[in-house]
Amino acid sequence: MIEFTDIYKNYGDKQALKGISFNVEAGEILGFLGPNGAGKSTALNILTGYLSASAGTAKVDGIDILENPIEAKKLIGFLPELPPLYLDMTVKEYLYFVYELKKCRLPKKQHINEICEVVKINHVLNRVIKNLSKGYRQRVGIAQSLIGNPKVLVFDEPTVGLDPKQIIEIRNLIKFLGKEHTIILSSHILPEVQQVCSRIVVINEGQIVANERTEDLIKAVEGPMKQIAKIVGPETEVLKALRELPGVKYCEILGKQDTDSVSYLIESEERIDIRKALFHSLASKGYPLIGLEGMELSLEDIFVRLVTKKQEAEKKKKTIAEQRRAN
Ligand code: ADP
Repeated sequence: MIEFTDIYKNYGDKQALKGISFNVEAGEILGFLGPNGAGKSTALNILTGYLSASAGTAKVDGIDILENPIEAKKLIGFLPELPPLYLDMTVKEYLYFVYELKKCRLPKKQHINEICEVVKINHVLNRVIKNLSKGYRQRVGIAQSLIGNPKVLVFDEPTVGLDPKQIIEIRNLIKFLGKEHTIILSSHILPEVQQVCSRIVVINEGQIVANERTEDLIKAVEGPMKQIAKIVGPETEVLKALRELPGVKYCEILGKQDTDSVSYLIESEERIDIRKALFHSLASKGYPLIGLEGMELSLEDIFVRLVTKKQEAEKKKKTIAEQRRAN
């Protein structure tokens, strides 16, 4: 449905995209993951025809965006990072305005009503957009992307700035829309794309560093687990008990949390769940465990792991090739 081939983009001397290629199959929800400044918005703006590439081709459903922008744009609904909302219009006025702008031919009232039902904004239709919460504004942004019923939806960082409840609602809405559309969702948060997407493309400094099914990417970046435990008891003895636990690779004191508990960083071996052993060991010694939380992998951790795995795989390939040559 989407073919992105060897795309380069320069802003003056700055090379924002250094030859990226990926495809998205019909019906897929693809996660586009990368830190700020990686080139995600640039790539999405090229895909949606808002920017031209310096080199390379971008096609939607076989239609080249540069050669045939009007036809290609009809196939795409876009929610940019900053949704193009007219704040002084009511929701209804705005959606009717976008309908005209897109020269949509579907039955107007019915089409807009259906969209409002799907994104759950029927009860705010007569409200002025500037008076809506950020979550509702985002819904209106998604509603405008659905006008014309495009096959492809492109959402650039759709949950930035939302509160946790709104984030869950928008994620669920995207999953629901994924039943009928091909979707690209860009984000700089792994758990976000992990929950919604079937495949993830990771981009860093204008280059693709991974393009994998979500489960495979998660497996590739799986490694030592980091947890923070809050424990009451004498620091040296608690630290000793933690270091003696089977599966614990590394442990250090992070500091006092309150008057009687201390926080410890515990790093355990890959795929070993130390929680039960931790509980039993501390209970038997009389040191209460009053908190335990897992630390999420940062994007930096993910890149380091992806790049290390890639290097390890290349090294292995090289060794095998050398052995074959020697035999
Ligand atoms: P992301 O969406 O992943 O945060 P962007 O695509 O916005 O990344 O930016 C990629 C790189 O290109 C960044 O280094 C950014 O500073 C630069 N960049 C983006 N837009 C422009 C522009 N209009 N002019 C010059 N540099 C730009």
